[in-house]
Amino acid sequence: VTDDDRRARLDLTERVGRALAELGLDRHVAQARRYYAALRAGREPAKDGWTHEMIVEWARLLRLPGHDVYPVHPRMHRCCERPKTFTSATFPGGSRHHCEACGATWLELD
Ligand SMILES: [Zn+2]
Repeated sequence: VTDDDRRARLDLTERVGRALAELGLDRHVAQARRYYAALRAGREPAKDGWTHEMIVEWARLLRLPGHDVYPVHPRMHRCCERPKTFTSATFPGGSRHHCEACGATWLELD
């Protein structure tokens, strides 16, 4: 990880942490803080803790600017002819869904 990457990761972690705090997800905020502290100190993140990938995924779920990569569909969205869908994540305000038949991933908001 270069210095620039690290700065970008710290910045994203801060934004994700703030968004999680606004949702009242205190345990998640604690995880984000722990990851942030390790990254900032140049340590490896805790083995049982959050990773950069998890921070990025939360940025996507919460659709932070630059990370709104998942399409948003109304509830009970039908993605293909024979959908095999499951809910792959839930969070305050919405959920992420995946279809094993067509490979689509999307968000449904409450
Ligand atoms: Zn599908």
